[in-house]
Amino acid sequence: MVSSTGTNGGERPLPVFVVTGQSGAGKGTLIKRLLAEFPQLELAVSATTRAQRQGEIDGVDYRFLSEDEFDRRVAAGDFLEWVHYVGHRYGTLLSEVERLRNADNAPVLELETEGALSVAERVPGAITIFITAPLDELERRLRGRATENPGQIEERIRAARRQLDVAERFDHVVENDDLERATADLSAIVERALHAAATMTG
Ligand code: ADP
Ligand code: 5GP
Repeated sequence: MVSSTGTNGGERPLPVFVVTGQSGAGKGTLIKRLLAEFPQLELAVSATTRAQRQGEIDGVDYRFLSEDEFDRRVAAGDFLEWVHYVGHRYGTLLSEVERLRNADNAPVLELETEGALSVAERVPGAITIFITAPLDELERRLRGRATENPGQIEERIRAARRQLDVAERFDHVVENDDLERATADLSAIVERALHAAATMTG
């Protein structure tokens, strides 16, 4: 379990931010902008069994684990949460969240919706944000990004439809139809949460 306070004796409990939403909605794009704006935020590096894409760096974009290594870490209880998603496994290592909190940073977790909901339950004070965009626009963006083949894109669109059903279970929903407005909406949410944390600790 991750504590609600930081590891520095509870003096500065920066919240955990969980960013979820549909594939292609712009989570990665928006998080990059947030990280540039707020130096206190740091992206948690997830573990995955999916293949490394061109340009991705092991330990930076993901920890790329074999199926056996992933199994071993599940059995050891090393994950805060993990899921099967479009044919692969993805998970947040407890050690990664603790590492960021030990550095007095606010961890940002980019997760699919099932993992985001379980973090919302397990981490007190987590701020959960759902990023959405119109389905036809999502399909256009995924085809434009071209990091998956057409079959995988179809699968992600089907997942996007299902994910929309749970949007209301998150603290905030941000519509990313317009990138500048969505960035401003998200920044305001983060600003308020950081301000509330600072106020709580005096
Ligand atoms: P996700 O991380 O949610 O899967 P990405 O951030 O990779 O999504 O965005 C998917 C694609 O859509 C990328 O090519 C990105 O540049 C583009 N994109 C993101 N936000 C917008 C927007 N508001 N308008 C148009 N294209 C966008
Ligand atoms: P991709 O394969 O495009 O990098 O990621 C696919 C999906 O997995 C994205 O929706 C991303 O948010 C999600 N994801 C990445 N890491 C994790 C994780 O550690 N846990 C969960 N639950 N989902 C993750």
